[in-house]
Amino acid sequence: MEPLRTCIGCTSRKPQSELLRISMDRSGRITVDEGVRSPGRGAYICRNEECVDRAIAKKRFNRAFRTEVKPEAYELIRRRIRIEG
Ligand SMILES: [Zn+2]
Repeated sequence: MEPLRTCIGCTSRKPQSELLRISMDRSGRITVDEGVRSPGRGAYICRNEECVDRAIAKKRFNRAFRTEVKPEAYELIRRRIRIEG
């Protein structure tokens, strides 16, 4: 069975493949993982903007990455979700 991960927006647990993995590399750059799981700190989120908005409002990205996440990084995540639909 596929491992379950928790969405940092709605906090529901879902199979890993249903969630988007956001990670941060050593230089502090936020990326959206493409298939391959990149090393470093990661957070999972549902592929919808409501969860992204909720996670931002509750500062869950900041907590997951232990830093102040920049607005550009949030835009990157939003853009990805819009493309995927
Ligand atoms: Zn969610």
